[in-house]
Amino acid sequence: MKKPSSHLSDPQTRVDVIVVGMGPGGATAARELAQQGFSVLAFDKLVHPRYKVCGGGLSARIERFLPDDFKAVVEKTVFRVQFMYGGEESFFLEFPQPVAYMVRRPQFDRWLVDKAIDAGTDLREGESVEHLHMDEVGAEVRTSQRSYQSRFVIGADGAMSLVAQHLFPGRRLPMIPALESEYHGPSSSDQAHEAPTALISLSAAEKGYGWVFPKKDGLSFGVGEFVKGANRPRRSFDRFIHGEKRLAGLIIPPPLGYPLPIARGRPADQGNPWTGNLVSQRALLVGDAGHLVDPLLGEGIYYAVRSGHMAAKAVADALHQSPVRLQTYEESINQAFGAEFFAAAQLNRIIYGLPRPVHRWAGRWFPKTYQRVLRKYCEVLQGRETYQGLWNRIRDRIRRPWAHGAQRG
Ligand SMILES: Cc1cc2nc3c(=O)[nH]c(=O)nc-3n(C[C@H](O)[C@H](O)[C@H](O)COP(=O)(O)OP(=O)(O)OC[C@H]3O[C@@H](n4cnc5c(N)ncnc54)[C@H](O)[C@@H]3O)c2cc1C
Repeated sequence: MKKPSSHLSDPQTRVDVIVVGMGPGGATAARELAQQGFSVLAFDKLVHPRYKVCGGGLSARIERFLPDDFKAVVEKTVFRVQFMYGGEESFFLEFPQPVAYMVRRPQFDRWLVDKAIDAGTDLREGESVEHLHMDEVGAEVRTSQRSYQSRFVIGADGAMSLVAQHLFPGRRLPMIPALESEYHGPSSSDQAHEAPTALISLSAAEKGYGWVFPKKDGLSFGVGEFVKGANRPRRSFDRFIHGEKRLAGLIIPPPLGYPLPIARGRPADQGNPWTGNLVSQRALLVGDAGHLVDPLLGEGIYYAVRSGHMAAKAVADALHQSPVRLQTYEESINQAFGAEFFAAAQLNRIIYGLPRPVHRWAGRWFPKTYQRVLRKYCEVLQGRETYQGLWNRIRDRIRRPWAHGAQRG
């Protein structure tokens, strides 16, 4: 393990980078920068392993952006997905390659944080950042204990980001409510020796979905309401857990809620077209702090890890450059995610905007088409398809139904 130099604690020393928040986004950025020999001081207001309200489902495409030995913290690998919609019979899709990896966030995040420490990050846990001031040479960061100085700041402090509030005033993007609970103990599918199966129910919430994810010693489950104004997550949660066969008879702890800071999914009039500004002077926002969350299903860990990598690259380049140019970060985020978030937001409008009877009708009369679309969605998670590809197919189908034959299926 590389030891961070103790002079980083000296308030007079200006470190290269301060990372605020050590979830997947911050821990990735800190690790990458420390590995390259930059001085990295990181803060988390909590002490890892800490609980994070989250389903802990990693889409399989994250694999090449995590350290090689990440499977050490994977509890279940999912090759099989069960979909439910409109109260109809559910169906299963199976794949030869993994669709998702299931983790528990306290263990996964602790493991990522340890990687960052091993690379040389100086981590202060249980020390909360309370105030930031930025000028043209860097930042002054005041925590619950004292002040520190840095050349750059990476804001990775999650959905309620203090860095965004202090250094990016006027940044307003959507938040949607989500609830999650966990069950620890044997489940009926374990007892039946079923292959680990992730369940996604489009019938669970009024304008959203419910999920059940398998874990080593139990299940995690929850609901998200993905349309503004359809804010009855607790009612949807209760209905979902009472109706879902896999949860029948289990003692379910009350759910915990947390906002999902979803990406806008349409171009903005000002600033960065898709995500709002992610760079302000010498500060960058990654992961949830930057609203880099998929507006269709609320997937955020993949985007947090990838934006952590991109932020580290932009800061490393800037530390070698004069004058400093951090805009490359926004450009790479736009290039990688802009059109994907746009397509995901269009799919959101169709999937959650259509009344439930329309889903039922479509599923009943065009089951093959319906299943093909959901298979394609799983391929997005595998990294073999994109939201843009999926959206283009659906749009073509809506615009030119005759071009695909009039027969059902
Ligand atoms: C109910 C629910 C279910 C979800 N399920 C999934 C899922 O299955 N798969 C998926 O991909 N995504 C899921 N998400 C989204 C996912 O949890 C987030 O996108 C992901 O955690 C973002 O990572 P991050 O590193 O940006 O932020 P976080 O993981 O939120 O980490 C931020 C860190 O910053 C720290 N912090 C905050 N403020 C301060 C401060 N002032 N000073 C110092 N430290 C601070 C916090 O303690 C925390 O450790 C879900 C979200 C919710 C709400």
